[in-house]
Amino acid sequence: MPAKTLHIVVAGAGGNTGSHLLPHLARMASIEKLTLVDPDTYEPANLVVQNIQTDDIGRAKVEAQAHKLRRINPALEVIALRQRVEDVPRGLLDSDLMLSCLDSKAARQHLNEIAWRLNIPWIDCGVLGSQNLVRVNACVPSQDSPCLECGWGHDEYATLEQEYLCGAGVATFPTMASSALGSLAGSLMAIEVAKFLRDESTSPLAGRQLVLDAEHHILQVTALRRNPWCRFDHRGWMITPWNCRPEATTLSQALDELGSLRVEGHRFVTELLCPGCSHRLEGLRLNRPLARCPQCNRRMVTAGFGAIERLDSTTANGSSKLTLAQIGLQPGDIVCAGARHRRIVEAA
Ligand SMILES: [Zn+2]
Ligand SMILES: [Zn+2]
Repeated sequence: MPAKTLHIVVAGAGGNTGSHLLPHLARMASIEKLTLVDPDTYEPANLVVQNIQTDDIGRAKVEAQAHKLRRINPALEVIALRQRVEDVPRGLLDSDLMLSCLDSKAARQHLNEIAWRLNIPWIDCGVLGSQNLVRVNACVPSQDSPCLECGWGHDEYATLEQEYLCGAGVATFPTMASSALGSLAGSLMAIEVAKFLRDESTSPLAGRQLVLDAEHHILQVTALRRNPWCRFDHRGWMITPWNCRPEATTLSQALDELGSLRVEGHRFVTELLCPGCSHRLEGLRLNRPLARCPQCNRRMVTAGFGAIERLDSTTANGSSKLTLAQIGLQPGDIVCAGARHRRIVEAA
């Protein structure tokens, strides 16, 4: 039993696997805090495949699950983030272990990147309902260890591209997995978590992939290797805290201190246009989540000067009096200033 208590992040927390996994985690004594991430709301169709009841219909998945977990273990701290994992400030995912029960390849790729940037072990799982397959991978970032993408080939990247084409990573492909298969995946995941909690360094699944073919009763374990041609750069970040209150710090004050400012994975925009009804939104903002038209709900496109990757005194011109909160930054965000990485923490 480890001496320390642990914080675990679960992405895709309310779905087919996540909803079956969570109660197991709530029953593990050494887990002190769970952060649940899922943007969705329970619908009637979820009843037959997810671990929910009729009174959960209409509720945000993370809220419904947080409520259940607190009933199992009132001492457990549960943070519910009703967002896509891509839109969560990266510092809020800083934890001892991340678990992915996601059904989107783009979201998995994002979590893989965060794992290496922040040096967090993570366990990913996937199910294929039509073939009764469960896959579990564990990645522990280190100098030579394989990341999830090290095992990806042409097919995986083609699926990824398809997801982006269907709407900038929003599209997901229903796996049509049964409640039983989701429950099996959740249990396999929970068993790996328990082993990790006993001793992270000897986690037998680290750098490996387990595939359980429940259709033909075949279990396959594959050792993965760092792929020298992996498309991911495997870089980690040195992150130092940045004490600043986003509501009170202006962009010009921030740029005086940092020189320039970037939020990896996101772009700043000064003007957005709706391609459907021509509605226009003006003002510098971090385009996160990707904006939808307030009138017709279409995805808005960048207009004006287009998307800005890095803010500096030139690109912030005219907006320097805005506060960081006004342009969409929040505590937990990790900003890149040149080669340095600063995590926004609010001074007590
Ligand atoms: Zn890799
Ligand atoms: Zn519109």
